[in-house]
This record gives sequence, structure tokens and C-alpha cells, in this order.
Amino acid sequence: MARYTGPVCRLCRREGNKLFLKGDRCYEKCTLDRRGFVPGQHGKMKKKTSEYGIQLREKQKARRIYGLLERQFRNYFEKAERMKGITGENLLSLLERRMDNVVYRLGFAQSRSQARQIVRHGHFQLNGHKANIPSIILRPGDVVSLKEKSKESVLLKENLEAAKHKTPPAWLEMDLNELKGRLLSMPTREQIDVPVQEHLIVELYSR
Ligand code: SF4
Repeated sequence: MARYTGPVCRLCRREGNKLFLKGDRCYEKCTLDRRGFVPGQHGKMKKKTSEYGIQLREKQKARRIYGLLERQFRNYFEKAERMKGITGENLLSLLERRMDNVVYRLGFAQSRSQARQIVRHGHFQLNGHKANIPSIILRPGDVVSLKEKSKESVLLKENLEAAKHKTPPAWLEMDLNELKGRLLSMPTREQIDVPVQEHLIVELYSR
């Protein structure tokens, strides 16, 4: 599946928000602190944003946080609409339970884009079986584990060292000795710490 490969800080500048697309590196040095204006020739001009514009920006922000293209994001929205419950919350729950996001949240990767890459490279198993598709949606009880061969990867060792100082969200459990994580329950809205107002996305797609 295609993905955005351009400069990621530009995306944060466009949204006027730190989206932490480079993961832990964003805490050290952030472009937004130096160039906190919208990219492009007229970036410094103040513009009035319409209601549609506000909704559009919110959707773009969510899409960029999870590293998805428009079609993929729209598919998740349509799936969320068909589920029971609140559509906006269903949408975030689906996005959070993607395999690449779970790998990132467990601390195996420093950012979602890195998680996507290491999943694609076949470093993980899901419930003991090969799983190299970042878009797999996990369910409570699912176990993500590092493959035996991948335990020697320098990158993964570094990430796991850093993971010792992080706490995964309450809906996940990480076992740093066995190098595996389990999805304990469906993530609730309060447990999803993304700066997105999902009701604006629902309003946008309901137009
Ligand atoms: Fe966004 Fe991180 Fe770049 Fe800052 S350093 S602009 S948070 S990607």
C-alpha cells in the first residue's frame, strides 16, 4: 500500500500542531519551534478558516498521525460507521488497533512509521503466526511477539532499551522479558491520547 514519503515536519507545520511523526526524536528538536507557520509562499498570512476548513484540517491531522492515505482513512471511517456505538470513537479504536500502531505503543518502535517498516520486514508474529501486514486489526487477547531471529536486531534492542522507561496504555500489556505484548481490551476514548476531535471528522464525512 502506498504511503507518504515527503518531509514529515512539513505535515506538522501544515496542521499547526506537533504530531510527533518522528517519534522520540521530536522531543529533542522540533521544527515547529523554529518555523511554526504554514509551509508555502503565503504561509505567514492570516486566513479565516471556514467550518468546512476546520473539519478538513481535523481529518487531515488524524490521517497524518496514523500515516494513512485518503482512501485507506475513508475505508476505516466507513467500517466505523457500520459498527455499533459512536462512529468517531469506533474510528479511533480501529486506528489504534492496527498492528503497526500496537507495535509502536508497546515500545518496539520509536514512531508509527518505523513500526510500519519493521512489521513489513517480518520481525513479528501475531498469536504465534507470521504477521507482516501493518494494517491487521487486533482484537482483545491477541499477542504480538518478536521473532526469535529478530531479538538480535540492533535497532530493536535500542528501542526495547528505551521502552523500559515508557508505560504502554492501559489497554495493552508489555512483557519485556518475553518480548511480547498483549491487547487486553478495546481502547476507550479516554485511553487514546491523540489530539483529535473525532466528531469533526464525522461531520466532514457526513456532508
Ligand atoms: Fe512534527 Fe516531530 Fe517534526 Fe516537530 S520534529 S515538526 S513534532 S515531526
